Amino acid sequence: MEKTKETRRDFLKLAGSICFTGYFGLSPSSLFGKPELSEVEARFYEKISGGKVRCLLCPNFCVRASGETGQCRVRENVNGTYFTRVYGNPCVIAIDPVEKCPLFHYQLPTPAFSIATAGCNLFCHYCQNWAFSQKGPAETKNYSLTPAQVIDKALEYKSGAISFFYTEPTIYIEYLIDIARRAKKVSLPCIMVTGGFINPEPLKELLPLIDAFTVGLKGFNNDFFREHIGGSLEPVLETLKIIHAAGKHLEIVTLLVPTLNDQPEAIKAEIEWIKANLGLSIPLHFTRFNPQYRLMQVPPTPASILDKARKEALNAGLQYVYTGNLPGHEGNHTYCPKCGKIVVERLSFRVLNNNHENGKCVNCGFSLHGKW
Ligand code: SF4
Repeated sequence: MEKTKETRRDFLKLAGSICFTGYFGLSPSSLFGKPELSEVEARFYEKISGGKVRCLLCPNFCVRASGETGQCRVRENVNGTYFTRVYGNPCVIAIDPVEKCPLFHYQLPTPAFSIATAGCNLFCHYCQNWAFSQKGPAETKNYSLTPAQVIDKALEYKSGAISFFYTEPTIYIEYLIDIARRAKKVSLPCIMVTGGFINPEPLKELLPLIDAFTVGLKGFNNDFFREHIGGSLEPVLETLKIIHAAGKHLEIVTLLVPTLNDQPEAIKAEIEWIKANLGLSIPLHFTRFNPQYRLMQVPPTPASILDKARKEALNAGLQYVYTGNLPGHEGNHTYCPKCGKIVVERLSFRVLNNNHENGKCVNCGFSLHGKW
């Protein structure tokens, strides 16, 4: 594959139509030519009778006849063979601080190189990236970027990691695996930000390749899952247990939507489950909902709800509990579980001060959970 010749200035010049955060987004364009949709055969499926296929990648277990696409919109049966239509065709590329994932206990020397394709196997009614996640690849503007080119770009921008982010990485697992294998060869860590709705077999194949996971535990209420998320809770809990048992870095994020998944008993059940199954040191982020997508009529989460959830988790013994999308709140910071001093001071996901040395509290020497 011939190496792309455009300059850094050309690449940056394209920023504009997608700009996510305080860093920058890079908009898909003719930079790499107008890509055709990929024709790479999918993995994790089986052929069944009548030219149909059954996808084994996620608990939706889609059965599709020729010409049909899976629920995630990116896997298509063509004459009895299942193809991924997004291999090498990301629609989002961005440079992000790792705290945005959010990962607060996995510090990197430089921001991560984030990438996403169209599609998702869930349909969260509050998705802020619905313009990509709730579309198929024919409906988004895409780059044409091989795994080798992804690594080249990440190294060119001196990125601290590759972050599979913005939409659901599970649904482009073939592309993800090939990128992550190359990342390993150049010692670039890989981060997966996921809803955790994946079957155990493909997840186990990802474990050696992914260094840190942020899992969206979208609520502890099956009715909410069915109605507003599209999956079910049990497979996500299984994913969390598998990641934890593998010793991978794991942080959990729960977006609290007023009246829908913020019932005190559901929050309490989630905290108790984490405590019993994952331990006290797993970072937990309660984040604020802002009206999005199909929930425009629901007001933003009151700060008091997030504050109460955080205090409940801390009182239950969890050591690192945060409030997200609430800049300036005391729950933005990391506190030493032993002496209570602020060890990482943040404004939202920006780190203002580190009061630790290589993960040890400068006040009392306590070893903080995570990679520092
Ligand atoms: S990954 Fe996509 S095609 Fe496969 S089961 Fe899940 S939603 Fe269906």
